[in-house]
Amino acid sequence: MPRQPPFDPVRRRWLRGAVAVTALACAGRPQRLLAPPSWSDDPFRLGVASGDPAPDGAVLWTRLAPQPLWPDGGMPPAPVAVHWEVAEDAAFARIARRGTALARPERAHAVHVAVAGLAPRREYHYRFLCGEAVSRSGRLRTLPPPHLPLDAFRLAVASCQHYEHGWFAAHRHLAAGDHDLVLHLGDYVYEGSFGERVRRHEQDGPLRSLADYRARHAWYKLDPDLQAAHAAAAWAPIWDDHEVANDYAGEEAMDGEDPALFRARRAAAYRAWLEHMPVRAALADGNTRIHRRFALGALADLHLLDDRQYRAPQACAPRDRGYAPDIDPACAERTDPARSLLGAAQESWLHGGLAASSARWNLIAQQTLIAPFQTRGEDGRAQVWSDAWDGYPATRERLLRHIAALRLPNVVSFGGDVHAFHVCDLKADFADPASATVATEFVTSSLTTDDGDYAALQAALPLNPHVRYADCRSRGWIEARLTPQRMDVHLRALDDARTPDAQVFTLRQFTVEDGSAGAQSSHA
Ligand code: FE
Ligand code: CA
Repeated sequence: MPRQPPFDPVRRRWLRGAVAVTALACAGRPQRLLAPPSWSDDPFRLGVASGDPAPDGAVLWTRLAPQPLWPDGGMPPAPVAVHWEVAEDAAFARIARRGTALARPERAHAVHVAVAGLAPRREYHYRFLCGEAVSRSGRLRTLPPPHLPLDAFRLAVASCQHYEHGWFAAHRHLAAGDHDLVLHLGDYVYEGSFGERVRRHEQDGPLRSLADYRARHAWYKLDPDLQAAHAAAAWAPIWDDHEVANDYAGEEAMDGEDPALFRARRAAAYRAWLEHMPVRAALADGNTRIHRRFALGALADLHLLDDRQYRAPQACAPRDRGYAPDIDPACAERTDPARSLLGAAQESWLHGGLAASSARWNLIAQQTLIAPFQTRGEDGRAQVWSDAWDGYPATRERLLRHIAALRLPNVVSFGGDVHAFHVCDLKADFADPASATVATEFVTSSLTTDDGDYAALQAALPLNPHVRYADCRSRGWIEARLTPQRMDVHLRALDDARTPDAQVFTLRQFTVEDGSAGAQSSHA
């Protein structure tokens, strides 16, 4: 359980007084609603966010939580009506849409609004109002109309933001950028502490309960730089392992936890994630499907994957050590075609989406490294990491064979998880460096989370000729500018993520030309 903030009898008295419910018609039936409260603390302390944009709208998010670290957020056990506004201007003089949503206690008083009726490819400002409280405003851009030619689209791609490993200066720089969409590929929160602690969060020990996971999300969301990044642009987030537990696979933990207990823990973690993320999946109670697709006009189809929820257990890996180990590539279970990283349904959804695409580019956004990455163990023998696509080579082969068979020219994958930048050629046959490059892969470094061993990474590069570039020394993210002719990719790096005022620079620049898979290095 999180450490409880001191009980405040004055505030509790106020809340009791405020739970004078009124009957309001909502969704066709009377609901018991809290009367418009007069707040003694700002209920919008966790900020605002938007996400999963469409040509005509997006999801708006906030959470009423005057005491974000309390199990009830400092809210009474009753639904509260929250008003929202979407405007064409920052002063909210020209309102495009407005409405009322319910913040319900069973959802931690989180609010998800699916706004529709907006114009495509346009910037909007939004905010929430409740009683006398007004939230900060956020900014979002709707997507272009489907199938319309588009001159350019700007993406930012980020992952791995351990709160204790650094400051969120990266988010301050992301907020200052001009991004049509921010992809967050997971490890948005970390369930545990490891490595050196540059700063501390509110609770130690493993997270187990819904209250634990809610408190962890609330703590992260109290960060002003993270709030700024959410307010600055629409996001499309997916989760990875640390939103639940390190290196878990499907319904199996890696720390030896009893399967029934782990299932409950995973459900609590998913629920807390959905409560705190601006995603359409959160609009329906109990829905945990987060793989989804966006059309960026005729320019690109963007496929977001979930490689955690449906994956088979890591091959040849004991399930009680807390992590997925490096394994012998010859381990027979590894290559079993019945094992899938994505699950059969998601694989077929992805293959179908690629086959149906008529867009210039196909972007795959997923959690980790697709390309093989062989290293040498201490005994000199080859090994691969069981948690990445290397642990599920049949899924990788099926995908790359499918792309090759479709003759889809412009497939680019974005990944994260490994706390290092990687730029890779995804080959028809990785054993043959002369074989065709089928797709291009960019993996972003971590925003803050500790890096690995640079010497070991460099030593492994000759074993992996399809890896054009790899560097784990910088914390950072990826910015990509997509046009019909090319994709320009900047690897953005912080000078020192351990300081709050870290500065950013472009570490490397790459280009992918239309019709020609594989990244070309260009100089910053
Ligand atoms: Fe991570
Ligand atoms: Ca991860």
